[in-house]
Parts: sequence; C-alpha cells; structure tokens
Amino acid sequence: MSLNRTGTQPFNRAMLFNVGFKEAMKDSVWDCVIFHDVDHLPENDRNYYGCGEMPRHFAAKLDKYMYILPYKEFFGGVSGLTVEQFRKINGFPNAFWGWGGEDDDLWNRVHYAGYNVTRPEGDLGKYKSIPHHHRGEVQFLGRYKLLRYSKERQYIDGLNNLIYMPKILVDRLYTNISVNLMPELAPIEDY
Ligand code: BGC
Repeated sequence: MSLNRTGTQPFNRAMLFNVGFKEAMKDSVWDCVIFHDVDHLPENDRNYYGCGEMPRHFAAKLDKYMYILPYKEFFGGVSGLTVEQFRKINGFPNAFWGWGGEDDDLWNRVHYAGYNVTRPEGDLGKYKSIPHHHRGEVQFLGRYKLLRYSKERQYIDGLNNLIYMPKILVDRLYTNISVNLMPELAPIEDY
C-alpha cells in the first residue's frame, strides 16, 4: 500500500502511517504491519519482515549514519508491530507536523505500554537511504516539547482522534491512497 499526501500542509509521516493502518485494516485481516520509509532500501534479504512478541526496529544500521545506531532510542526508517501492539499503543501521534520526533514518540509509546524493541542481529539491519530533496519537510521545532508529554498525550492523540478523507485508487498490483491532511482534523489539547 502506498500513501501520498496532497495539499499544502507540512509533511506528517506519522499521520500518514495511521491512515495507512486504518485503510489496511479495511482491506483484509492483517496481523502484522510494517511502516517503511520509501527512501530506505534493505541491503540484506535475510532481514525478515515479520512481527513477534515485541515491536521491531528493522532499520538499525543506515548508510547515512555510517551503519551505526545513532542513539539507543532510535526507531526511525522501518518499524513493525503486530496489529494488536499498534492498537494498544494508540498508533502514531498525529501532532508532529514537519520532519522529526514522531519516531521518538513511537518509541516512548511502545515503552509506556510495557513493550521493548527488538532489532535484527549483526549486519542484517543494514539499509541504504536514497539521497533526494526533502521538499516540504521543514524541521518540526515543536517536537522536543511534545516529546516531554508523550505519556500524557498517548491516549488522546493517535488512532483514536484520526479523521481523514482518502482518495483511493485500487490498481491490479497496488492500492494508492491520497490524503489531504489538515491539523484541524486531529485536534489535541495544547501542551
Ligand atoms: C529526530 C528523529 C530522527 C533522528 C535521526 C532525531 O533528532 O527526532 O525523528 O529519526 O533524529 O535522524
């Protein structure tokens, strides 16, 4: 399933993933979901995309970070959860408009819900990031403040306050979903 944004709002990776999740649940009875940045290419085909007891961070070693995990809590690029785990944590936050922070918030959500994160062993989690212009992805400077309130915000912002109007094109090999995301469609208390 591929997700596109339309409209003029800054990028919102997390909200797009929430939309993808809701649409996938209409599509079939899935039990595992993988959230994958389009610009990340796995280098090792033994990096198996499946779910387990714990949420998984697949993109542990990125070429753009010299194949070193940039920090222990890094949860960006490619992550996977069972549908049950994703519902339990209330999905991604919707309030991160622009680049950065939403993956850190997902890490916090997972841990507040009592999970740990697993990663592929050794070199299995190596990825190449395709270099490209990040148009429209302005840094989200409000992320640090929101991240301080991850716990308080977890169950008021996520799957349970998501509103969107998708345009869906079902083709033979893929489903293309376009959404015009607007901040006023994901109202949250001001922190
Ligand atoms: C951002 C994350 C990003 C990470 C690595 C952090 O400062 O908050 O969203 O994934 O840097 O680039």
